[in-house]
Amino acid sequence: MLKTHLLDTLSRREPTLWINPRHDMLQETFPPEAVDQAADRFDRAGALLSRTIEVLKGSDGLVESPLLDAEPLRAALDGKGRWLLKADHRMPLAGSVKARGGFHEVLVYAERVAHRLGWDGKDFGELAGDQWRSRFESHRLIVGSTGNLGISIGLLSRALGFKAQVHMSRDASEWKKQLLRDKGAEVVEHSGDYAKAVQAGRREAESDPAAHFVDDERSELLFAGYAVAGRRLAEQLTDQRIEVSRERPLVVYLPCGVGGAPGGITYGLKQVFGDSVHCWFAEPVASPSVLAQLASGLETPVSVYDVGLDNQTLADGLAVAQASMLAATCMASRLAGVFTVADESLPDYLRLAWDKLGERLEPSAAAGFAGPRWLAETEAGRSWCKANEVNLDSATHVLWSTGGGLVPAEVFDEWLQG
Ligand SMILES: *Cc1c(COP(=O)(O)O)cnc(C)c1O
Repeated sequence: MLKTHLLDTLSRREPTLWINPRHDMLQETFPPEAVDQAADRFDRAGALLSRTIEVLKGSDGLVESPLLDAEPLRAALDGKGRWLLKADHRMPLAGSVKARGGFHEVLVYAERVAHRLGWDGKDFGELAGDQWRSRFESHRLIVGSTGNLGISIGLLSRALGFKAQVHMSRDASEWKKQLLRDKGAEVVEHSGDYAKAVQAGRREAESDPAAHFVDDERSELLFAGYAVAGRRLAEQLTDQRIEVSRERPLVVYLPCGVGGAPGGITYGLKQVFGDSVHCWFAEPVASPSVLAQLASGLETPVSVYDVGLDNQTLADGLAVAQASMLAATCMASRLAGVFTVADESLPDYLRLAWDKLGERLEPSAAAGFAGPRWLAETEAGRSWCKANEVNLDSATHVLWSTGGGLVPAEVFDEWLQG
C-alpha cells in the first residue's frame, strides 16, 4: 500500500524524490555468478561480433560505450563535484543501453542453437560463417518493446542471420519501426501499451518451437548482460585515474522504465563498489512504475494506472506502467531511491547535452540530468547525503545517457524545438 501523501504527490504528477528505506530482500533469486558468465560470454563472442557488426570490424568486438567528461554540463547546471556522461547512446549497432542486455540474450540463443546443431563451442567467430547464418535463418527471436530493446534484438538477430519479430505499441516511434523493417525484421503493431506488446510476443513464441522470446519483464539473461556494465565502468574509471571510495563515492543517475536495464547496471555496480556507489533511478511523472512498486512493498504487483496516471510521456523508452518484479526485488536492498521528472524539462536537457557536449540524446536518456539537483537543493536530498555521509563536492556523478544514437536528425530537431 502506498502512503496517502506519496500517492497524492504521484497522482498529481508532481516531481518528487523518494528515498528507498532499503529493506533486505530475502526472496532474491538472481544468481550473482550469472554476471561473471555474461562477462565471459561477451569476451568469447568478440570474434563473432567483430565480424558481424560493421562498426566493430577490425576491433576485438568489445561492445562498450565511452565514459565522457561532462564538465560543461556540470557548469551549466551549477552542479557539485565531478560530472561524467556514460554515453550508452553511442553503443555500437543498437545506439542504446539495450545493447547490453539484448545482445547478451541473442548470443546465448545463438550458442544454444549452434550447440543443438553440432557446434563444438570452441570458436565463436566460426558462427559468422555463411553455413551457420543459413542454419540460423530457420530460427526466430521475438520481443515486445517500447522501441530500443526491439532495435537491439532485431538488429543483432538479423546481423547473425536469425529472423526477428518485434511487437510494439502503435504509438512507438515511427522511425524505430521503419528502421527495423529496413533491416529485415518483422514489426507487429498493437493498440494498447508496452505490456500488451510484451504479452502478444510471449504468446506468439509459445506456439513456435523454433522461436525464442526475449522477456523484458522477467529475463535473467537481459539482467546479467546489463550488470556487466559495472565492471566495465570500473575499468574505465581506473583508466581515467578516478578514485572511488567511501570518501569519494560514485553517484549514478539512471533513466528507468521497467527497471531491467538500470536495475542490472545497479546490481553490477554494487558488486564492484559496494557502499561506495549510490544509484538513483529517474522516472517520468506519468510512469513511476519502479517507485510505486518499491514504495508499496513487493507482495503484489502495482501499476501506475492504479495511481490514476496515464503512462503518456515524451520519454517513450520509459513509458512502462508496471515494474519488472525481478528488477524491483533486486533493487529493494540496493537502490538509493527514485526521482520523477516532468516531461517539460526533457527538451531543455536535450538542448544542454547538444550545446555543451555535442551529444545527441533521446528524451528518455536525459531524464537522469534532473538528479544532482534533487540531492543538492532539496531538504530530502540534503538529509539523505548527510545520513549516508555523501559529500557531493568530492563525489563523481555519472549521468547514464541511455539512448539516442540512432535518432534521425529531423526527429532530433523537432525535440529541440520542444
Ligand atoms: C529501455 C530504456 C531505458 C530503461 O530501461 P528499462 O529496462 O526499461 O528500465 C532507459 N532509457 C532508454 C533510452 C531506454 O531505451
